[in-house]
Amino acid sequence: VPDELTIPDLPAEERIALAIGAHPDDTDFGVAGAVAYLSQAGWTVYHLICTNGAKGTADPGMDPARLIALRREEQRAAAKTVGGKEVFFLDYEDGELQPTRDLLKDIVYHIRRLRPHTVLTHDPSDIIVRDAFINHPDHRATGTAVLDAVYPTARDHLNFPEQIAEGLTTHKVRRILLWGSNHPNYTLDIGKVLELKVESLLCHASQLGGREDFLKFVEERWKNDEGRYTEQLRKVEFRF
Ligand SMILES: [Zn+2]
Repeated sequence: VPDELTIPDLPAEERIALAIGAHPDDTDFGVAGAVAYLSQAGWTVYHLICTNGAKGTADPGMDPARLIALRREEQRAAAKTVGGKEVFFLDYEDGELQPTRDLLKDIVYHIRRLRPHTVLTHDPSDIIVRDAFINHPDHRATGTAVLDAVYPTARDHLNFPEQIAEGLTTHKVRRILLWGSNHPNYTLDIGKVLELKVESLLCHASQLGGREDFLKFVEERWKNDEGRYTEQLRKVEFRF
């Protein structure tokens, strides 16, 4: 288990991480390896999913209500595979997410309630990533709202004071890990937990083609030039 990720000298009560994805499956594609290492090292990892995933199908016979329910169950199973403790769903409409006050408020609420040391989410900085794909608008909206929630909104008590009045307290996140970034500064070798990552991805059966094709895709997507499996992350640590 990589020490720079799991911080062995961190007090046990601070070992809490919150992974926030736009759609069911994003978190597992992005950071299932990191989540697996954190939970193996005794961290409590929570998942928060912003949208209901209702657009994620090419099957014309699929009914959105059935898809939403199916993808929730897939996400719960996937999170469990990598040691996640609980999954929360915000249920915004898939494909229509905006970094609104409401989304910000909901994310701040979960940060103040769960009190994570580390937050993992989409890097919203760029629309084009690695000149290879477009950063989905829901991913950008999620990443933007999460970063705004971490700083300054969750930290300062005059933001959403009704939450403070309800008994929550302000919270300072110490570290952010972003996936899907043009500026990764941290390579996490996920070789020891690759099987768990693949298993978590296979839980999202509604999103995958044939199993064999998928395993080939995993090889190509996460294996680097030296033949190692990695998650490329952008790490931001707040020192003050
Ligand atoms: Zn997504």
